Amino acid sequence: MSELQLSDVRKSYGGLEVIKGVDLDIKSGEFVVFVGPSGCGKSTLLRMIAGLEEITSGDLTIDDIRMNDVDPSKRGIAMVFQSYALYPHMTVRENMGFALRFAGVPKAEIEKRVNEAASILELGPLLDRKPKQLSGGQRQRVAIGRAIVRHPKIFLFDEPLSNLDAELRVHMRIEIARLHKQLSATIVYVTHDQVEAMTLADKIVVMRGGVVEQVGSPLELYDDPANLFVAGFIGSPK
Ligand code: ADP
Ligand code: MG
Repeated sequence: MSELQLSDVRKSYGGLEVIKGVDLDIKSGEFVVFVGPSGCGKSTLLRMIAGLEEITSGDLTIDDIRMNDVDPSKRGIAMVFQSYALYPHMTVRENMGFALRFAGVPKAEIEKRVNEAASILELGPLLDRKPKQLSGGQRQRVAIGRAIVRHPKIFLFDEPLSNLDAELRVHMRIEIARLHKQLSATIVYVTHDQVEAMTLADKIVVMRGGVVEQVGSPLELYDDPANLFVAGFIGSPK
């Protein structure tokens, strides 16, 4: 059963088509990574899946239910952005619980979920700090915590590590891989970093100019790239 399905999904801004008919099946629990050069449409695609951007044509289904017109809060999806913009005046605990409070989740349930996420992310000792008292990696973990507390079926990550320095990026990459295993979550992840893609993905989707060039496991893309663009991008010797 495929959890998330895109059929001939397109997006135009004004008269200009930027997503040109994308078909994709994502299975439950899969870690799918979108790669491709800047401007190829990765963020636009994620934003359409999240419901932050209208789909011009084509179908988006989750568990076989058409989601094109479903409110973002009812899709079972949580998104983690590159600029993780925490609320500076709130503590870590308040930042993580905010969306739940806004959605009317009872206080005791919020506390339970925040503690659970804090334990998964090893943020327990930091719960009463404000964002400015945290390192970049800790802030990014809080941003992931905000997504975890919502108990989504699907996590969307848009270049979540690109604001971190190289050492932290490696560390967070390992954290995210661990998180995927621990939560058995479905993850759709965007990056322009080939190493990130090759190490995290069950399945890589290579995009160029609004089109999917190839879909496959890291090994399949490396061993048998569909064309020179994929080969160049993945860094395979072909
Ligand atoms: P990526 O995330 O792969 O760098 P984007 O999805 O951000 O690419 O952008 C894909 C294309 O769509 C780009 O050409 C970009 O300029 C265009 N685009 C994105 N958002 C808008 C918008 N709100 N209005 C007009 N064009 C946009
Ligand atoms: Mg982008």
